[in-house]
Amino acid sequence: MKPKFKLKTAVIFLGVIISFNLQAQPVKLHGNLSIQGIQLTDEHGKPVVLNGVSYGWSNWWSEFYNEKSVAWLANDWKCDVIRAAMGIEPDGGYIEKPQWTKEKIETVIKAAIKNNIYVIIDWHSHNIRLPEAKEFFADMATKYGKNPHVIYELYNEPVKDSWTQVKDYSIELIKIIRAIDPDNLILVGSPHWDQDINLAADEPITGYKNIMYTCHFYAGTHGQSLRDKCDYAIKKGIPVFISESAGMEASGNGPINYAEWQKWIDWCASNKISLVTWSVSAKRETCSMMKQGVSPEGNWKETDLQESGIKTRELLRKQAESQK
Ligand code: MG
Repeated sequence: MKPKFKLKTAVIFLGVIISFNLQAQPVKLHGNLSIQGIQLTDEHGKPVVLNGVSYGWSNWWSEFYNEKSVAWLANDWKCDVIRAAMGIEPDGGYIEKPQWTKEKIETVIKAAIKNNIYVIIDWHSHNIRLPEAKEFFADMATKYGKNPHVIYELYNEPVKDSWTQVKDYSIELIKIIRAIDPDNLILVGSPHWDQDINLAADEPITGYKNIMYTCHFYAGTHGQSLRDKCDYAIKKGIPVFISESAGMEASGNGPINYAEWQKWIDWCASNKISLVTWSVSAKRETCSMMKQGVSPEGNWKETDLQESGIKTRELLRKQAESQK
């Protein structure tokens, strides 16, 4: 009896270790992502919801773009996905310092691959820069398109561009990416700070697979009327991905509106929509998750985090638990 008992105990123990590792490594669990109807789906044909955080602008928060912070966000914050927000136009952004910027972004991409979480390569711009974007995404697709971890986000937030302009820009980039990488997920922005997703829904991009459309919300500013636009998009049959969001005002400052933030979180859960929260940075403003002066390499204690960081970590750990 004794050896049998030991064997059984060992099997249970091994099972716990295996399931823990699978939970901690979303890409091992879900593999290649695709769209079935409007639902993000894993390679086993099951609906999948990704939850995680966005790094702040790479030009202002480059010190956070390191391997250790990625590992910490994967293991302690239980992120399924992280977003590398590559600043394009400001001083120190991709236009001014392309090689340096790309190194920062690739550090995060490689660390995400190592930790088996998904990573959004976000062209973090407010204006169209087609020639530079073409060259960049061709390079990214060539280097990383074979990895199931990688998601391309073509345009953070258009401001003045019409949907026709955003659509034409996106198609040009989709053609470039698809010639190299036939399958990885591509996120397309929508006009007016990613809030007019209804316009994209009225005239979506056709002829390409695994395309999703992004909506961004800040719960202190955006409530039911923006959810109505998302519901409209869903009814029209286009897949929605919340690639940037947070609980305070759209400025990134002001108090957190907990009631409205929770409505968004519940809405995402009930519609099986992925949710990314802004941002890993350390400015004296509500949306920065870290306090000024913290180590950029993770290992953060609760006392290192600002209110939005504490709440976002709590949310992510709860979401990871509920997905078990
Ligand atoms: Mg691929």
